[in-house]
Amino acid sequence: MASKGSAQAWQPNPEVMKIWPDVSGNDINGLGEAEKRPPTPVFWRTDGSTPHAPAMYYFFEKGMADPRTAPARKFRERTDAIEVHDIASEVAPEPAGGWTSAVKQAALDLKADDAGICVWNSEWTYPDRPAPKGTRAIVLAVIQSYDEMKPAPSISAFVEMMAQYERAGSSAKNLANWIRDRGWFAEAKTGPSTEDVLMIPPAIASGMGELGKHGSLIHRRFGASFRLSMVLTDMPLDPDTSDVFGADDFCANCQVCTNACPPDAISDEKQMVRGERKWYVDFEKCVPFFVDNHGCAICLAVCPWSRPGIADNLVAKMARRRA
Ligand code: SF4
Ligand code: SF4
Repeated sequence: MASKGSAQAWQPNPEVMKIWPDVSGNDINGLGEAEKRPPTPVFWRTDGSTPHAPAMYYFFEKGMADPRTAPARKFRERTDAIEVHDIASEVAPEPAGGWTSAVKQAALDLKADDAGICVWNSEWTYPDRPAPKGTRAIVLAVIQSYDEMKPAPSISAFVEMMAQYERAGSSAKNLANWIRDRGWFAEAKTGPSTEDVLMIPPAIASGMGELGKHGSLIHRRFGASFRLSMVLTDMPLDPDTSDVFGADDFCANCQVCTNACPPDAISDEKQMVRGERKWYVDFEKCVPFFVDNHGCAICLAVCPWSRPGIADNLVAKMARRRA
C-alpha cells in the first residue's frame, strides 16, 4: 500500500469517490468555525440520514461481502439481541460502599476494562434527536489486542475492532440491565453508530483519557487502542474528573501517526472546531481511506502509547517533565 511518504501517494478509490457527496464532512463538523454550536451528525447514522451515508453503507457492505469479516460484522445484531430489562418497581437498598463503587465493579464484572462517570451534559447530543434521558454517564473502555491491531489496516485488525465493539456494547447493555434491576433508569449507548450522542466528550470528562493528535482518546493504561460504550442513568453516582496525564503534551512533539497516515489526514496543529481549538483529523482524507481499508486504525496501532508495557513509562516521563 502506498503510504504518505512513498513515491506513490495514496489516491482515493474512484468507486468511493463516485458515491462521495458534494458537501464536505469538515464543514459539517464545523472545522474553522470560531463560534460554539451544537454538533451536526456526520457519517455514523445507520438510518442513512447523513450526506455521507452511501460511504458508510459501502463500508458495511464491504465487510459483509468478505467471508473473513462477515461474522464479525454481525456484532451489532448480537448486541441488539440482548433483551432490555424492565426497571424494577422498587429501588434496591444502597450497597455498602455506595452505588458508585458498586456500579464500577459491576462494569468490570461485565467485561469492561475500565469505567468512569461524569455528569451528563445535554450539549453532547444532536439537536435533531430527542434529548436522551439520564443525569449521569458511565463510560466503559475495552482494550483491543495489540498483536491483532498491529498489522492494521488488515482483516485481523477489523475482526478485532468488531469483537471489541461487541464486548463494549454487550458490557454496556448488561450494565444497563444491572442498574434497571435495581430500580433506576439506564440506557446503553453503543458504537460505532452511537446515533444520538457523542462519546468522546463524556469519555474525557469521565477520566477515560486525553484526546490525541489522531483524533482518538489516549488512556493512561491502554494507550489509543481501545473502544468505548456508555450507559446513561439516573442512578445517584459520584462523577470522576478528567484524567490529564500528559498525552496532549506528548502529541505536541510526536509525529508517529501523522507520518503513518496514508492519506495525510492528521494535522500537526490543533484546529478550531465549533469554537474549540483541538486535535482534528481531516474527514475528507481519512474516511475515503477508512471505508476502503478495513476501518484503517493505523493511527491507533502505531501510537506509542498503545504498545504494551509502554504507557506507564510515558506517564512517568510526562510527570517528570511537568515537575
Ligand atoms: S502517535 Fe504520537 S502524535 Fe499521534 S496520537 Fe499518538 S502520541 Fe500523539
Ligand atoms: S484511521 Fe484515518 S486518520 Fe487514522 S491512519 Fe487511518 S486514514 Fe489516517
